[in-house]
Amino acid sequence: MIAVRIQKLVKKFGPMVALNEIDITVEPGELFFLLGPSGCGKTTLLRCLAGFYKPNSGKIFFGDKDVTRKAPHRRKAGMVFQSYALWPHMTVAENVAFGLKQQRMSRPNIEVSVEEALASVQMDGYADRKPNELSGGQQQRVALARALVVRPRCLLLDEPLSNLDARLRYDMRKEIRRICKEHELTAIYVTHDQKEALSIADRIAIMSGGQVEQIGTPQEVYTRPRSQFVADFIGTTNFIPGTVIRTGAGEALVKTELGEFRGVLPEPDKVPADGDAVTLSIRPECWKFDSAPAEENCFLGEIGRAVYYGEVAHYAFFKNGIKLKMSELNPRHLEKHEQKDLYAFTEVEDVVVLSQ
Ligand code: ADP
Ligand code: MG
Repeated sequence: MIAVRIQKLVKKFGPMVALNEIDITVEPGELFFLLGPSGCGKTTLLRCLAGFYKPNSGKIFFGDKDVTRKAPHRRKAGMVFQSYALWPHMTVAENVAFGLKQQRMSRPNIEVSVEEALASVQMDGYADRKPNELSGGQQQRVALARALVVRPRCLLLDEPLSNLDARLRYDMRKEIRRICKEHELTAIYVTHDQKEALSIADRIAIMSGGQVEQIGTPQEVYTRPRSQFVADFIGTTNFIPGTVIRTGAGEALVKTELGEFRGVLPEPDKVPADGDAVTLSIRPECWKFDSAPAEENCFLGEIGRAVYYGEVAHYAFFKNGIKLKMSELNPRHLEKHEQKDLYAFTEVEDVVVLSQ
């Protein structure tokens, strides 16, 4: 297993800066995600890693080898793209064998390797089919087998599931993680789908405009976003403006139009001054409701229309013309609207205090 280190990587297209000093270290055996909106530079970064683009400056290391200037086929990286890109005239086995033939592996060894690769993506028994005789999910499994069979040092995946329907996408997520872990691969996976990243990543880099905004585990980036961009991109949230009353012990007490809130500072070394303007981020699922007030982080408001989804309900909640999004698992407040006024409250650890 190898680490992949990206140091101060810059890629420009003419005057356009697509990657602006990217610094990322992917640990050996890690399933690492690049997540961000369309156009933020994910594919460009992956293509630099694969060797299809030459960066303007910066370095890329696979293990301790500097591969920045190496040709793609000498990097031993496996690639899986959004489109399966199988050769339509070849059988499944021939598609998977292609890379091994190029490496001039002997025919008996090729047969064994192809069989193993197909088995590991659960496609044994399909060796003699043509790609057009397979479903989308099966084709993507074959594309994975084709990338794995050459025993790559790292696997690069660019939106590998976005051509699949919702159900299959969901099943294949876990499958890709299983395959990466079984093969002990260092893998870098590009997506714009937050749920895909949260559900299977070891760590995620959230990108915006050619820069890395934040790197962390799924829980870290979801519960401790360090910017409004990350808080908003990685899920749904409420932003509430306020001013700092005082800070201490990694927390801040903040005055807002909804009353005072105590919350967590996501960066312990970046403490705002008293009186500074800040923004609170509180996610919809972090609220609870009661007819009696809670001790802190609580305000009296009016619960509005609910959208019922079965296991969860989404509410609009109003106070002084401010509208918040709140949700409740196992909904209790749908039919209690004779009592429209309710206290909404939240735990200190669910309030993130963002500097501006
Ligand atoms: P993502 O994969 O995150 O959607 P890309 O890496 O494809 O984003 O693109 C990042 C930016 O670089 C975009 O503004 C895009 O238009 C630009 N770009 C990507 N490839 C090229 C290219 N070959 N020539 C010129 N501009 C490019
Ligand atoms: Mg892309």
